[in-house]
Amino acid sequence: MKYKRILLKLSGEALMGEQKFGIDSERLGQYTQEIKKVVDAGIQVAIVIGGGNIYRGIQAEKSGIDRVQGDHMGMLATLINSMALQSALEKIGVQTRLMSAIQMQQLCEPYIRRRAVRHLEKGRVVIFGAGTGNPFFTTDSAASLRAIEIEADVVLKGTRVDGVYTADPEKNPDAQRYNNISFDEVYAKGLNVMDMTAFTLCKENNLPIIVFDMNMPGNLLRLVQGAEVGTLIS
Ligand code: UDP
Repeated sequence: MKYKRILLKLSGEALMGEQKFGIDSERLGQYTQEIKKVVDAGIQVAIVIGGGNIYRGIQAEKSGIDRVQGDHMGMLATLINSMALQSALEKIGVQTRLMSAIQMQQLCEPYIRRRAVRHLEKGRVVIFGAGTGNPFFTTDSAASLRAIEIEADVVLKGTRVDGVYTADPEKNPDAQRYNNISFDEVYAKGLNVMDMTAFTLCKENNLPIIVFDMNMPGNLLRLVQGAEVGTLIS
């Protein structure tokens, strides 16, 4: 195995599947199967999931809600997704722990780094909910931060595109995909990998990022086994 401990970042939007809102049970089931494959292979798996399928803080101001309040609502949205993912994983026999950056005593554990690492060592999938716990951040930043804290080998950003392209492949048919690219090149070319806060955290801490297509069955396992899947940023 190329990687022993991974942090998988999934967007909330990906969970919608073909729907316009909420959680698509088929997509959720598909993701849990992919995650189970890597857990069964002995990989330590931590997960951060977004909340964009339910609520985003930037929507708030338009509807007369204070931005910080909106971000708190967004963080709660990530917890809803995390709970769904936790439940779906346990249903297929994967042991999990959910840790929240905002205390939710009745629902899950608080985030404690040493405990998270211990869970991982015991083979439990650890889901980090409520982002970083701070407004004005994204779950991409939470993914980078937690990955650094738990000393993950890599951040895997599971998306619906199969890597980083010279331009948006959904808009520009001539866009070329990179197999590898450096952090500096991503900056210089202004490519969109993660938001800058998240990206800079990874760069400054030498944490590689792989952007890959999470909707392609088997991709996640192939990736941790060392196959060239997606785009490696290092
Ligand atoms: N959020 C936040 N701080 C964090 C993580 C998330 O305030 O550390 C809020 C923010 O409002 C964001 C929302 O939670 O819009 C949902 O997260 P995100 O947009 O990253 O989800 P994704 O795009 O991955 O679905």
